[in-house]
Amino acid sequence: MAAGPPGPRCRRVPTLTDRIPLSEPCLAGNEGRYLQECIETGYVSSVGPFVERFEREFAAWIGAPHAVAVSSGTAALHIALLVAGVKPGDLVAVSMLTFIASVNAVVYAGGVPVLVDSETETWNADGARLYDWVASRARKGAPLPVAVEAVHVLGHPAQLEPFLALREEFGIMLIEDAAESLGAEADISGRCRKVGTVGNIGCFSFNGNKVITSGGGGMIVCDDPEVAHRARHLSTQAKMPGRAYQHDAIGFNYRLTNIAAAVGLAQLEQLDGFLEKKRNIALQYDESLETVAVELPPRVHWARSSSWLYSILLESPERARSLLGALNEASIDARPLWISAASQKPYRRAETIGFEVAADLSARGISLPSSVALRSTQQDRVIEQIRTCVSARRH
Ligand SMILES: *Cc1c(COP(=O)(O)O)cnc(C)c1O
Repeated sequence: MAAGPPGPRCRRVPTLTDRIPLSEPCLAGNEGRYLQECIETGYVSSVGPFVERFEREFAAWIGAPHAVAVSSGTAALHIALLVAGVKPGDLVAVSMLTFIASVNAVVYAGGVPVLVDSETETWNADGARLYDWVASRARKGAPLPVAVEAVHVLGHPAQLEPFLALREEFGIMLIEDAAESLGAEADISGRCRKVGTVGNIGCFSFNGNKVITSGGGGMIVCDDPEVAHRARHLSTQAKMPGRAYQHDAIGFNYRLTNIAAAVGLAQLEQLDGFLEKKRNIALQYDESLETVAVELPPRVHWARSSSWLYSILLESPERARSLLGALNEASIDARPLWISAASQKPYRRAETIGFEVAADLSARGISLPSSVALRSTQQDRVIEQIRTCVSARRH
């Protein structure tokens, strides 16, 4: 039933249960060949030609002047916050409906997270509400956030205009956490921009479940050569060039290895095809689930999602739990949405700007299998299972 072009051919070992994975990597390109090259040349660690090539080709693909490869998306965010000037005790506003790493990175940098509720249009941080909060603090002379970390969750671009206004009016740095949204695009003042290239610094993740993987890795992109230089310096132990064992700051061992970059580069070569497949999977879900009582994921006229992880909302938390149970029972790897950081143990006392929307989305949301290699027969199984569990849409 599911149409669309055939996906890349991925080697897979059929399991007895034929479990349908949530978001599995597809290693169907030059991964093996490039890895072999690493072994043969002996360049396996953080020095080697693939690191530079991956950075150069990633920068070209995304349309950013500079890219710095690091060991994870979390490391990318940590370095980005430091380079953006976050100092111990500084406030950093961050979306509360996100993977926990977005918030943890703020604390690693010594910052104090201010958790921002979602808006219902994109499920991302409500920038208008944050803007009002900041403007009111400014009037009272209270300390303002030094940076905003805008997360583009599940592949869908956040509404960035309010954050850009905060930068313009209050000098608040804009860092984009585009870990889940490589390839997503948004119209910003009449110009189509890839997410991650709009703010001062953009961060990406190449963890195994993301749009492309390097086994584990991340990328920092920016316009400013000085920012790129500092990011690269801090991620290589702040080692001074040309002098052995001399360091001018407290740096980090965050550089990507040549082995990981080899895999990342091979994945990047397949990215356009991956995005096409992801968007076709989303389209197929959209069409098939139109008739059942679920809310489909955000779709707005001013942006195009990467459709990283297709997610739906049920009518109630109870219905979401029971559907999730039924899907898992049928060996379908569906998951709940991210849990709001405001209700995670380390952040229960964090300052919040709203909480209701994120809590509601989190309680009613389910992410469905969205792997690039998802076969149409598998997607049909997911859709059939949902149709059996969820009643028809009321009109
Ligand atoms: C995956 C993810 C990260 C962290 O990336 P890692 O490579 O796993 O460290 C950060 N933010 C978001 C929104 C993510 O989904």
